[in-house]
Amino acid sequence: MRQSLTSGQHPFALVLGCIDSRVPPELVFDQGLGDLMTVRSAGEVLDEAVLGSVAYGVLELDIPLVMVLGHQSCGAVKAAVESDLSGERLPAHIQYIADRIAPNIDRTQEGDARIDATIDANVRAIRAQLAAEPDLAAKVTSGQLAIVGARYELTTQRVHRVG
Ligand SMILES: [Zn+2]
Repeated sequence: MRQSLTSGQHPFALVLGCIDSRVPPELVFDQGLGDLMTVRSAGEVLDEAVLGSVAYGVLELDIPLVMVLGHQSCGAVKAAVESDLSGERLPAHIQYIADRIAPNIDRTQEGDARIDATIDANVRAIRAQLAAEPDLAAKVTSGQLAIVGARYELTTQRVHRVG
């Protein structure tokens, strides 16, 4: 397998996931070398480097499936929700992450339920942002690309779609 992969890569999906050490996409989905392109940022937050990485996979490697993978007990989402409540700024570049998650906070919920609901809302928002990228949208329209949201549960190790 390693030898065959030296001549090129044809991953069948790109997973945009969180940096959480408990949620490595290759292990979550039991995939091997060359199967998945993984892009990871805290809270799956988008920036130019993340968008460029996703675009590379879709436009240059023709990957037909992009999954935004959030997860239960996401520390980045928790920090964003708590910073929003307290008004206290987070250290260094962590505030940048929280600022990206803040618009997705589910204010209909309180406490732990707010964090949990925001995990889903954040996945939906990031999926929508990717789907609104013109180059990706064109591929979706022509049937060459699907962009889906999903969530991994630490307690059950199951993944379900976030619609
Ligand atoms: Zn996380």
